[in-house]
Amino acid sequence: MLLRIFAAILLMLFSVSAMAGSKPHVVILATGGTIAGEAPDNTQTTGYKAGALGVEALINAVPEAKKYADISGEQVANIGSENMTSDVTLRLSRRVNQLLARDDVNGVVITHGTDTLDETPYLLNLTVKSDKPVVFTAAMRPSTAISADGPMNLLEAVQIAASPSSRDRGVLMVMNDRIGSARFTRKTNTTALDTFKAPEQGYLGQIAGGRIYWENRIEKKHTKNSVFDDRNLKVLPQVVIIQGYQDDPAYMFDAAIEHHAQGIIYVGTGNGSASTRIEAAMRKAEKAGIIVVRSSRTGSGIATMSDSLPGLAADSLSPDKARILLALALTKTHRPDTIQKYFHQY
Ligand code: GLU
Repeated sequence: MLLRIFAAILLMLFSVSAMAGSKPHVVILATGGTIAGEAPDNTQTTGYKAGALGVEALINAVPEAKKYADISGEQVANIGSENMTSDVTLRLSRRVNQLLARDDVNGVVITHGTDTLDETPYLLNLTVKSDKPVVFTAAMRPSTAISADGPMNLLEAVQIAASPSSRDRGVLMVMNDRIGSARFTRKTNTTALDTFKAPEQGYLGQIAGGRIYWENRIEKKHTKNSVFDDRNLKVLPQVVIIQGYQDDPAYMFDAAIEHHAQGIIYVGTGNGSASTRIEAAMRKAEKAGIIVVRSSRTGSGIATMSDSLPGLAADSLSPDKARILLALALTKTHRPDTIQKYFHQY
């Protein structure tokens, strides 16, 4: 009996000390992009091969990340993000949901190309059903470049994914010591390192001296509070984006009707305005059962509902992010009033 009590106490002490020393578990899901890119020359920062390195090479480049978390890696894809399609991004979303449902996973980091990094994080912001951290990171310089930005970005992404302070903030994007929200952050420069910005709303926080500083929260609904999900969804419904400009032809709307698009994001001038020619094309598309949403080509501000123009309004969503929301909305309803509500809420 005494021996048994002694053994139980020993076991308890052992598990308490194991718990005290145990680190959070962060899974890195790699999808390609410049962060995994290679060039023959260390001064080459354009025209290199994106998605050349595997996830193990990415992890091995940053052994310091083990300070923050136990890390495991999975290769979801290895492509330039201009080749991302919704079958891949929905598969990624499903994998993140599976991982975060596990008690032994504390957070997820996703490496991704920068060119469509406006889109995938916002999709997951609407489809991940967990408040555990989901952190996207990327790089503007390939891994072979002088002052490659990937390793530090990955290190900071792991630190943020491992921190309980990052929970319930929506899907995050981390580059250059800045923490951005998937809802507002966009690529704003073709080649500069500090390209990801939310010019009106700013960042959620930053990292300095190895410490995380949170400064803002977003008000929009996301993750656990989102009505959208990735179940039974192999690809997103077809929503096309039509750019507005002087002389823009109405036949783009005819093409959308012919190709059975379910939704159109019209990138209008100013506050989503459109010529009388396009106004007629919008009405024709609506008659054909297509949901039309007006957004703005200005890059910031709110596209508001119009008394005279048809179509819904994209609120402050960029056209690319508006496409994601409209596609997910169409998996739930075709009621314009409900979809407009989504555009104000998410
Ligand atoms: N075009 C590639 C991509 O989006 C490389 C750009 C980048 O990752 O910076 O994946």
